[in-house]
Amino acid sequence: MEGSNKNTITKAHSFSVEMFPPRTSEGMLKLDSVVKALQKFRPEYFSVTYGAGGATKQGTRDLVLRFLKRDINAVPHLSFGGTTEEEMRTILEEYREFGVRRLVVLRGDLPSGVGMSTQQPHASDLVHFIRAETGDFFNIDVACYPETHPESDSVITDIEYFKKKVRAGANSAITQYFYNVDAYFEFTSQCQKEGIDLPIVPGIMPITNHANLIKFSSACGAEIPRWLRKRLETFESNNDDLCKYGVEVVSKMCEKLFEGGAPGLHFYSMNRSGPITEIIDNLGICAVSLQHNSENS
Ligand code: FAD
Repeated sequence: MEGSNKNTITKAHSFSVEMFPPRTSEGMLKLDSVVKALQKFRPEYFSVTYGAGGATKQGTRDLVLRFLKRDINAVPHLSFGGTTEEEMRTILEEYREFGVRRLVVLRGDLPSGVGMSTQQPHASDLVHFIRAETGDFFNIDVACYPETHPESDSVITDIEYFKKKVRAGANSAITQYFYNVDAYFEFTSQCQKEGIDLPIVPGIMPITNHANLIKFSSACGAEIPRWLRKRLETFESNNDDLCKYGVEVVSKMCEKLFEGGAPGLHFYSMNRSGPITEIIDNLGICAVSLQHNSENS
């Protein structure tokens, strides 16, 4: 990467990677190779998303189990969705038996058309439930939104509700993705003023597909700054160039986040290793383990 601080950034920065459960056996095979490619960088954990609508509930459990059997630190995402308290007790007990020690706890989003009129329990309700049922056994991560959750009427209430999750017993938080570094620092400083004192790890979405990024960002409330949107439009006919540019922009963003004191990075992988590998390589994080691996390979 042009002008990057390759291998000069402290090696102590940790990162995690988020995957979704594949629906086909081909997808699972592909995921195995993605995980293998990323494992050499020694991520802190691989988290596995959860479909609150039910479609991927079993898939989450199965993928977590598959990872754990291979000694991969797996972290399930979990939502109440339509799950009863009794069912949730069973899920938690099973995860304890598997050896899971960390959870990403969310309200979750139902797929469009699935009972959207039903009020979903909030993430704070589930954090509260897990603490009441299992004490301090699990390390709990929750979600937060530097650019404000799309359903929130104000940044003040959004931070109030975030505080509620923290008070219910969250240990750390992962942000929705963003491309505006100032939004992250403004948010963390606002949280500090509100007495929210826990690590807030930036969620990082590599740029790999223009149309999908626009669609997804508008749904989840992530702003694509005009300068970036305009630049991405120029790659409309060349996705390889778009990915290359995306790696450059996101690597620079991650550098700024680390320089400003971000406690780690959480990559939304979309089950792809390529862009993350390049970003991590640009950042020079985990260079020590890479050296170790290459010496032993
Ligand atoms: P909440 O914390 O419950 O917040 C949802 C909204 O309600 C916010 O507007 C909040 O301000 C408001 N609110 C919170 N508490 C209250 C309250 N007590 N009273 C009134 N309003 C309140 N989705 C999935 O379906 N599966 C996944 O695996 C998944 N993984 C994710 C991982 C990360 C790191 C992130 C950032 C998001 C993830 N999502 C996932 C998306 C997430 O489920 C959505 O953003 C969802 O809309 C909100 O989830 P939450 O846990 O932040 O909800």
